Amino acid sequence: QAKTQGRAGYRLFSPTMRDRVLERLALEHDLRATLAYGALEVVYQPIIAVQRGVTVGVEALVRWPHPLRGPVSPAVFVPLAEEAGLIPELDRFVLRRACAQISQLRARYPMAPPITLSVNLSSHSFAQPGFAASDLKLEITERTLMDQTETVAQVLSQLRDLGVGLHLDDFGTGYSSLSYLQHLPVSTLKIDRSFVERMTESAESAELVRTVVAMAKTLELEVVAEGIETPEQLRALQELGCDYAQGHLLSKPLPLAGLEQLLRAPLATTR
Ligand code: C2E
Ligand code: MG
Ligand code: MG
Ligand code: MG
Repeated sequence: QAKTQGRAGYRLFSPTMRDRVLERLALEHDLRATLAYGALEVVYQPIIAVQRGVTVGVEALVRWPHPLRGPVSPAVFVPLAEEAGLIPELDRFVLRRACAQISQLRARYPMAPPITLSVNLSSHSFAQPGFAASDLKLEITERTLMDQTETVAQVLSQLRDLGVGLHLDDFGTGYSSLSYLQHLPVSTLKIDRSFVERMTESAESAELVRTVVAMAKTLELEVVAEGIETPEQLRALQELGCDYAQGHLLSKPLPLAGLEQLLRAPLATTR
């Protein structure tokens, strides 16, 4: 109880902390309303086959253009949505919108090579899906996989039966061992940006990326490297035999119109 702790207790609920609580409540209120109006947006970041330099897929990323605050970062409002119990609704919105937009795009360009769609799912959304599609990849983090509950196991096997691919996002930041992955319907590892960022400067990070790529090959998993920002990083990944890459060097996340442009005039990478 703050009161009985005297002066020190007051610091537990200082004006700044009160402001922060109010701020959070306001943001939560706005997010709830935005979801109800379907006013979130989805952008698409191309995933490129490293050796061929072509776009083989996109990752859908949610965006919140707040009318008063300007864009709010997903790093802020996704955790907020998780705490407020809004994340299943948010993930479902992104999944629906992205599936609709990408399938329209594919219908408009029937001769173009098909692209896959990756969608992020928080662990809270994972146990309650309602979708079907191949060419659909769901990105989950290691934590979700380690959650060995009955529902998670059931959903995993249903997804495998549907042919939906599971991508393990932010790989390297959690605790799952590569050998453990053998027994799960995971098709792809996404190496976390923090390792890619350091790989051309730190021998240790480079070694870690090399090991993950090599072991993934042994386990017949595909590898996507996240957050490629420099030509040096791309070259290093090419040399390691990394399959796919994503990052600002190749393309920032694009609104649908930008993605359409890109698919009409295929990327002329890789340097
Ligand atoms: P993530 O799934 O690991 O997505 C990759 C993040 O890295 C994205 O940030 C992307 O814009 C950013 N990124 C890509 N290339 C580069 C690069 O070269 N440099 C740098 N500095 N950053 C790069 P974003 O869009 O801010 O999303 C942050 C996180 O929010 C995502 O990380 C994901 O965990 C979560 N998120 C985004 N959309 C959704 C969603 O619809 N549902 C859920 N549950 N989570 C989402
Ligand atoms: Mg992701
Ligand atoms: Mg990631
Ligand atoms: Mg992430």
